[in-house]
Amino acid sequence: MHKGFQRSIAYYEQAVKVIPGGVNSPVRAFKSVEMNPVVLQRGEGSRVWDVDGNEYIDYICSWGPLILGHSHPSVVEAVKAAAEKGTSFGALTEIEVKMAQLVAEIVPSVEVVRMVNSGTEATMSALRLARAYTRRNKIVKFEGSYHGHSDSLLIKAGSGVATLGLPDSPGVPENTAQHTLTVPYNDLDSARVAFQKFGHDIAAVIVEPVAGNMGVVPPEPGFLEGLRRLTAHYGALLIFDEVMTGFRVDYHCAQGKYGVMPDLTTLGKVIGGGLPVGAYGGRREIMEMVAPTGPVYQAGTLSGNPLAMAAGYATLQELGKPGVYEQLEAKASRLEEGFRQNAEETGIPYHINRVGSMVCLFFTGERVVSYTQAKQSDTKRFARYFRLMLEQGILLPPSQFEGMFVSAAHSDEDIERTIEANRNALKQL
Ligand code: PMP
Repeated sequence: MHKGFQRSIAYYEQAVKVIPGGVNSPVRAFKSVEMNPVVLQRGEGSRVWDVDGNEYIDYICSWGPLILGHSHPSVVEAVKAAAEKGTSFGALTEIEVKMAQLVAEIVPSVEVVRMVNSGTEATMSALRLARAYTRRNKIVKFEGSYHGHSDSLLIKAGSGVATLGLPDSPGVPENTAQHTLTVPYNDLDSARVAFQKFGHDIAAVIVEPVAGNMGVVPPEPGFLEGLRRLTAHYGALLIFDEVMTGFRVDYHCAQGKYGVMPDLTTLGKVIGGGLPVGAYGGRREIMEMVAPTGPVYQAGTLSGNPLAMAAGYATLQELGKPGVYEQLEAKASRLEEGFRQNAEETGIPYHINRVGSMVCLFFTGERVVSYTQAKQSDTKRFARYFRLMLEQGILLPPSQFEGMFVSAAHSDEDIERTIEANRNALKQL
């Protein structure tokens, strides 16, 4: 039995007085699911508990980082051990070297990598580097993709921007916005047209190799390969934003899964194991344009922080053990199959996209290959669905435009319970 939300509501009432909208990141406000946010207190494995004592099977998993689930013993141990030796130095430490070596070993196209503190910093820095390297100004991004909140990348963005239905953000100067060209995801022809028009001034194409911020949208066959050819032809860089897909869709990231090599890769989420980490890396020749070897400036007081590195390193080591990704695939594929059967049974229009442990149930009858189709989804129906799942102890990402994350901590029983809850919810819609 759900115990209600009294305490969550009370905390939220206090929060809105001192935090904009009561939250430190917009989607957490539960606006699009038309209820007060659940205030969480504790997590363990696949479960989280709210301040009213309700227990949930969690599919937010901190929006991706917690691929091992909450408070994984190896990660907690590593962070504790690191904290006892000092929380920050602002000098080179051993764990940063080990981490960079490990990332260069795992991520196929990365030779040299720089740690930062968030995905936003990673993509912002990668763009600056691409512009400096090519001595060009423009970038191409895809509609409904989200690459963090730096000025150049907040144009036709996904994630919370899509969830809240906001137009391009105020505060981004027009002369910055004019250098961002946007084309539909999975639409190579439109990308080609952008290059035909502006090819001489395009520094980079930045792409989520699996889009995860308009719901989940896999790349159509040939899309990533086409972008590779197009950018190479025009002398622009190809940036894979693997903040979400990195170590998620495959140990060797999306580039390993699809066999397409970008020039630069941005990482985040899983690489920090639940602590604030981002990274950008790529070919030595490009990366060494960054200071102090080169003139492109980028720095960070807490970059390579020992606690964050310890959490990330422990996570990547766990992920390197045999069978982890096979099990993730098996569980997520069972979830997809269960959802599909339930939806067929109830006759509700739906479309499911899944890549590995990223899963999205869209309330639309159309196949979703880009933001245009994702937006056809019935978001009101999603909101009702979300609340019906929550009442049954299943915490989904509170937006139609976000994917569910299955973690290694989700048990087969969790998956079956989720499918059962999904059946009940769909019947009541
Ligand atoms: N790129 C992608 C693909 C993302 O999914 C996100 C966050 N959801 C970001 C960049 C931004 O990362 P952060 O929130 O850590 O700044």
